[in-house]
Amino acid sequence: MTMTRKDLESIVESGPESIQKFAHLLLQVNEDVLNERLRQNEKWGHQRHDLGTWLMILIEEVGESAQAMQVKKGWGKPTDASNLYEELIHVSAVASAIAEQVLEESRKRK
Ligand SMILES: [Mg+2]
Repeated sequence: MTMTRKDLESIVESGPESIQKFAHLLLQVNEDVLNERLRQNEKWGHQRHDLGTWLMILIEEVGESAQAMQVKKGWGKPTDASNLYEELIHVSAVASAIAEQVLEESRKRK
């Protein structure tokens, strides 16, 4: 069974408090990833890259996430990547963009 957004919203409204908290987090994170994807599309247009280029972009975001984690520990060099949540959203959004291309290409082959 696939859970839909409507299912999740129903759980948020009627489920136990522990489930409501989880569902709220899941919805918020995924909404933020979607908003980041839309921001990327507005900034860069419809991006299509070879997988090596995508991997470089993804690893850059993973690196920024690691830098933000280092900031929390007082480690590392000065960096703009201080917001861990934001950097993890970037990682997820780039992974989503790659997945979108992979899905698009697999559908073209059918
Ligand atoms: Mg970033």
